Parts: sequence; structure tokens; C-alpha cells
Amino acid sequence: MLPLPVLEEIQEELLNYRGSGMCVMEMSHRSKVFQTIIDEAEADLRSLMGIPENYKVLFVQGGATLQFAMIPINLMKFGVADYIVTGAWSEKAYKEATKFGEIKRLASSKDKNYTYIPDVSDLPVSDNADYVYICENETIHGTTYQRLPNTKGKVLVSDQSSMFLSKPCTVSDYGLIYGGVQKNVGPAGLAIVIIREDLIYPDVDSRTPIYLRFDTYSANESMYNTPNCWAIYVCGKVFKFLHNIGGLAEMQKINEEKATILYEFLDNSKMFTGTVAKEDRSVMNVPFVTESKELDAEVVAASKAAGFDNLKGHRSVGGLRASIYNAMPKEGVEALVAFLKDFEENYGK
Ligand SMILES: *Cc1c(COP(=O)(O)O)cnc(C)c1O
Repeated sequence: MLPLPVLEEIQEELLNYRGSGMCVMEMSHRSKVFQTIIDEAEADLRSLMGIPENYKVLFVQGGATLQFAMIPINLMKFGVADYIVTGAWSEKAYKEATKFGEIKRLASSKDKNYTYIPDVSDLPVSDNADYVYICENETIHGTTYQRLPNTKGKVLVSDQSSMFLSKPCTVSDYGLIYGGVQKNVGPAGLAIVIIREDLIYPDVDSRTPIYLRFDTYSANESMYNTPNCWAIYVCGKVFKFLHNIGGLAEMQKINEEKATILYEFLDNSKMFTGTVAKEDRSVMNVPFVTESKELDAEVVAASKAAGFDNLKGHRSVGGLRASIYNAMPKEGVEALVAFLKDFEENYGK
């Protein structure tokens, strides 16, 4: 979802953006008016997250998935990296990285079907690791880190796609943070990469396509070629929206309130059970199951009929999953809980 006020503003500006006589979709990315859009978007993101001066903000096409490759290609000096694998997305990132260097699975929660975050306080980090990689919120499995791993001085890289801007973030704890924007911020096809300047190496393998080098984006302010102008514009609107509601601390408060409503219901339900260890549960993605696949399917069908979309769990894990991203209002979660309660109470009657 996107916040309704954002969609309304976009609708208002659609045919004539601020007197330009054009839609943002029609503009040259080299125009003054688009330059202002991208500059404001970056400035608003910087102030929202408190991004330090020595970090670059890059707008990169190709979604989060392209970062699975760009990160190892650009960040490995020694050709070594450690990955903590906690679900589908870190597994994919790990697999992609193995094409480019010596990649270690530093820890994993596969033994329990990725339903928890392993103890990351004292892991055997490789001496020559160029970075330690995490997916901070596993979208499909519904886990999130409460504490960041102890990387023993190594650079921390985090995929924040499904939790981006859901709460305050201390950027200086990381070497690189990235997120595909379509979960929490804007239209698909854009990733935002926040990278410490000294990690933008000029001497990556010379065969690397120019478009896959972080220094290309950095040197050209994300406009080496035509960027995803429309997505940048919409993201900029969402950044302003977040400022207007009081920033990320306020967003976190709202998100936690929403998640609590749903988890409290699941914890007290006899029919539905959350699948994730309590201390590692995500505030954004809430997977849950009934006692059987058949009943899961019945709930999904009934929820669809009642007007709830996308409750079916990811095909790789089954069950149900409620994604309650930033723009999902509290009323949406309350309505879902009321529906599930009613389903449980009246089942078989
Ligand atoms: C959705 C998602 C991705 C993939 O995003 P794309 O933009 O579709 O490539 C990667 N990581 C996480 C955590 C995600 O939730």
C-alpha cells in the first residue's frame, strides 16, 4: 500500500506537475524540475534517517535482487564475505554471492525452517571478510533482528527491503544498507543503496559492466543514464509524508501498535498460530498457520471473499501471511483480526 494522501497528491499533479505543463512520467531527467525532485527526495531521506555526510545515497534500478550481485562485485577486495542465512531472501543473496568469491555461511536458522534468528553475538567471522551480510527482516519467513550481529569490526551489509523506513535506523552501524522500495516506500523497480563513501572502490574488476559499479552511480549522482524518475518522485512523496507524521520514531510507534494487535490475537487463538519465535517476530510480516493445509486454504478463500487481499503465505512456506507495512492503517489490522476471530468462532457451526 501507499499512503492515501500520497496517491491523492500524485493524482492532483499527474497532468501538470507544478505548472511544468508535464507529467513527471514525461519529463527529461536532465530538466531542472526533475533535478529538484531527486535532490529533494535525497535530502528528505537523509534527514529522515539521519544519514551521515560520509554516506552516499544511490538510486539504482533492478530492485533488491540486482544488489545480491552488485554487493559482492563491488565490495570484495579480498574476495571473502560471510553471510547469515535466516530465510528465503538471505539464501538467494548468499547463492548469488558465491559466484563472485569465497562466501561462508556464517550462521543459519534453516534447521528450524527459518523460524528464528540465530545467536549472532559471537560468531566466527572470517579474518579477511570484506563484509558480513544480513537480511534484517525476512519478508517470507517473518523474522527480524532485535540486535545487529557482532561483526568483530567487519563491515555490516543489510537488506532492509521489507522494513525500510519502518523505524529509526542508526546508519553508522552499517557499511551498506539497501532496500527495494516496493514493500514500504514506492513503485517497484528501484532500490535505494546507502553506502559509506570509503566502500565505493574505484578498482573493481575491469570487466564489470559500468552499470553494475557503485562508483558509476556515485560519480553521476544516480544519473549516469535515465533513472527510474517516476519511482524516485513517488518515493520522495512518501519521505515527505513520513516527515509530516513526525518521522520514523512515530512510524515505529504506529507499526508496533498494529503488530501487537495481530500478535495478541494469534497468541490467544486456538485456531491460528504464529510460526516465528516470539522474540524474533517481524513487525512488518506476520506468518501464521492453522492445524492443516486444508483449513489454511479455507481461511484464505474466506478472507478473499471478505475483501482481504494477499493473505496467502508465500508458495515456499504455505500457511497465511499478513504484511502490515507502513501504509497499512491500524483499522486494516483491526478488521483482519475481527475477521479471523469471527472465522474461528463460527467455524463448523
Ligand atoms: C522483496 C524482497 C527482495 C526482492 O526485491 P525485488 O525488488 O523484487 O528484487 C529482496 N529482499 C527482501 C528482503 C525482499 O523483501
